[in-house]
Amino acid sequence: MSAITFNNIANSSGITDETISFPKTWCLTQLIKGVLSPCYFGTRSYTPSRCANCGFNNKTVKLSKHGTKLSRITLSKTNNLPTYLFLKKQRFLCKGCKTTFIASTPMVKRNCFISKRVIQTLAAEGQFITSEKDIAFRQSVSTTTVNRALHQWSPQFKPNY
Ligand SMILES: [Zn+2]
Repeated sequence: MSAITFNNIANSSGITDETISFPKTWCLTQLIKGVLSPCYFGTRSYTPSRCANCGFNNKTVKLSKHGTKLSRITLSKTNNLPTYLFLKKQRFLCKGCKTTFIASTPMVKRNCFISKRVIQTLAAEGQFITSEKDIAFRQSVSTTTVNRALHQWSPQFKPNY
């Protein structure tokens, strides 16, 4: 994909991971949780340098592509609408330890489906607003997520002023 297209998508969606590739139709409005929401579609695939489980590098053990896994990631709202990224992530099979692992993306923490930018927004709002329920409603995430963003994750995502 050309740099111009990637920049267009990055600007409108906040998707910053340049290893994500986009199909021809990269944004559609879909009904999610009863709300018409802008949805982006992308695929994350790359050649891993080592197995995420046993740690052997790809010169020692064979890492082969082994299907994909689709996850829905919550992005920052656009025009006050909940926005999602449907990300197809490459799954790899390690011939060394016979286990599989999934391509990670720097946009989200491992096993987390909220983009780091949203967590940053939650942490920033937490400084001015007391109701976690209110933040959760406005950002379309659960109150548990807000609570964790404020008390567990926020030291890693302190916004720079
Ligand atoms: Zn392995």
